[in-house]
Parts: sequence; structure tokens; C-alpha cells
Amino acid sequence: MVKNLTHQQLIDIANEFGTPVYVYHAERIADQYKKLQKAFKNSNVRFFYACKSLTNINILKYVQSIGANLDCVSVNEVRLGLMAGFDKQNILYTPNCVDFNEIVEVKELGVNINIDNISILEQFGNKYGNSYPVCIRLNPHIMAGGNYKISTGHIDSKFGISIHQMRHIERIVKTTNLNVTGIHMHTGSEIKDIRVFLEGLDVMFNTASHFPNLQFIDLGSGFKVPYQTGDAETDITTLGEKVALAFADFEKETGKKLQVWFEPGKYLVSQAGYFIVKANVIKQTPAAVFVGVNSGFNHLIRPMMYDSYHHIDNISNPTGAERIYNVVGNICETDTFAWDRKLHEVREGDLLVFYNAGAYGFEMSSNFNSRLKPAEVLLVNGKAKLIRKRDVFEDLLRNQLVD
Ligand SMILES: *Cc1c(COP(=O)(O)O)cnc(C)c1O
Repeated sequence: MVKNLTHQQLIDIANEFGTPVYVYHAERIADQYKKLQKAFKNSNVRFFYACKSLTNINILKYVQSIGANLDCVSVNEVRLGLMAGFDKQNILYTPNCVDFNEIVEVKELGVNINIDNISILEQFGNKYGNSYPVCIRLNPHIMAGGNYKISTGHIDSKFGISIHQMRHIERIVKTTNLNVTGIHMHTGSEIKDIRVFLEGLDVMFNTASHFPNLQFIDLGSGFKVPYQTGDAETDITTLGEKVALAFADFEKETGKKLQVWFEPGKYLVSQAGYFIVKANVIKQTPAAVFVGVNSGFNHLIRPMMYDSYHHIDNISNPTGAERIYNVVGNICETDTFAWDRKLHEVREGDLLVFYNAGAYGFEMSSNFNSRLKPAEVLLVNGKAKLIRKRDVFEDLLRNQLVD
């Protein structure tokens, strides 16, 4: 198993490239990919990296080099994937609420297409008939925790076509002669309970008979990784065994040999990523001690948006006495990374690292407060390479029209 980068490795990178900086450890991504392959070795499986979690083209190239496929949610992600060297048959496009023109554009690029609403399905069928295969994204109405949520009164999600609309799907498929080769579900993120996948798979198997040309079932993702000690990780080993058995049973019953597809994002890149910042100021208030760092939710928004926990280390003073801090950003808006966090004494100028920063970190960054986006560095074979320059002032004005 590939271990976390050492404090010294992180300090060296911060010294060479400055802060704030995102660092990605390539071998850790490969390691996670190997874990998935091992867990699902008894299935006819394909993994599509959900690249919305981290789209730097160097990451895409690396993921391509280790043999994974690519899941994209926009035409631009598809273009990036093609540029990175993925074959079009190894790219899956899973959009939500996009204009039909975008679907047409992506169809011209020749990748696998996943359709997630009735209106688009109808337009696609009318335009292309059976000349281009499609996958249908279904909403199995499953609640995390393992209960079917079949009641039509509680259909809250905007994703997928409800399984209760199967009659309508069938009508469209029949009338337009659509070639449906896959069915898909993706029920959410950070799913600890593998029953969510297994019950979803049951729903998928029950729908499979509606589609005689079916070749694969895509179970999406939502594999959870630990963010702090004691945190659960999705038990992919058990899931792998159960999925293999379920597909074998399905084959026995129906004579159909289907592939299973997954779309891991976070699972592949979360732990490979580190975000290094510098303590600008230590500020004592009547209530607390704040560490104000040279970053904010403009660079890492997960703690503010999802209340997510990111472990933080003071890599400049790892043996200092432990004290309690609120770690905050420098944005003019409440942007607290961590409340009441025990850290080795932080001094102004110290480097802090946030762990699990690979997924939805840089990807969700912005120029809020006219601050500059951080640099990104990829560590491969022990060598650190800059893969995105830090923004400069001119980047803020790019696209602005000035008289
Ligand atoms: C976001 C997304 C994923 C990845 O989810 P993770 O929790 O990062 O693994 C997979 N499939 C689809 C369709 C998605 O939108």
C-alpha cells in the first residue's frame, strides 16, 4: 500500500513551488485503482474515472496510462479526455439537464452516452433511432441505509429517469427503435453501506428484461474513503464478492452475460491529494485562537459547503505542544476550515497541510475576492512536476473587456 507523503516531501514541494499549492501523488491513484481491480476481479468489470473530481489534463493522462476509462459530465470533460488520449469507446458521458445540442455535439465525438431524462431520450430516438447505442440513467429511488423508496410521493432527486416511468421509456424505445445497451444508476456520494449498491443492482436486474440488447449495468459510484482516523471506508472487497455472485446468478437465470461498470471519482483521487497553505497570522480573540491561512473557500470549499472534515497537520512544527485552534481562511466571508482543532503549536509562517484534498478541491476553486487560484503539482516516481501555474494578476482580467 502506498503511504502518505512525508512532512519533509511536502515541505520540499512547498519550498520549491510556493503556497498555497495542491500536490497529487500519482502512485496513490494507481494504488487505489489496483484495490478496485482486485476487489472486482471475479466480475467482468470496467472502471470509469469520474473526472469532475479532478480534471487537470496531466491527471487524466496518468489515469489513462494505468488503464482506467473516463466518466465525463460535460462536453468539455469529454474533449479533455480525448486530448488526454482516452479512446472514445473508453469514455462515458453522463450529463444532467443539458441542452440537446450538447448531446448532439458529444454524439459527434463518438463516446458512450448516458441519457437521464425522458425529453432527451425522445429527441435522441427521433434523431438517431437505432444508429447509435445509448445507456439510460435510472433513478432506483433508494435511500442510503438500505430501504427501497418506492413510494412515488418521495421522488426528490433531479437525476435519472424514475423506474416508475418504465412504461414511458419502453414506449419511446419501441417507437423510435432505440438501441439501449446499458442501464445506469448513481445514488450519491460517500455511501458506506454496500446494501445501497446491492439493492440498486436488484432494481437494475429487474429492469434488465425490458432491454434485449443490454450489455452492461453501470452502478455509478459513491465509494467512501476515510477522512479521519476511525472513519469507515466502503467495503469494496465484500461488495466485489457479492456483485460477482449476483451477476453469475443473473446469468444462470437469464443466459445473459452482462458487464458491470463503476465510476469512482473520490475513491481514486481523494487521498492522493494534499493542499499546503501558510499560516499568515495567529489571532487571539476573547473566545478562541484563530490561525488565518493564505487560502480560503476560494481554494478548498468542501469544509464550508459539505461540512467535511479534512485532517490538518502543522508540518513546520510537528513536535510543538498541542493547542486548540480555529483554522480560517483570508476571505471576506466566514470561511472556517476547522473549529477547535488540536494542532502542534502554529506560529506565523508555519506550513499546514490538508489531507484528502485530491477530490473536489482545486476543481471547485474560484477567484472569489479577486484572489488567485493555487498551483498544482504532480509527484510521479518521486519527482515533483508543476502541472498548473499559479494564477497571476492578468488572469483575473482575462475575458474582461476594458475600454
Ligand atoms: C460525481 C459522480 C461520480 C463520482 O462520485 P464520487 O463520489 O466522487 O465517486 C460518479 N458518477 C456520476 C454520474 C457522478 O456525477
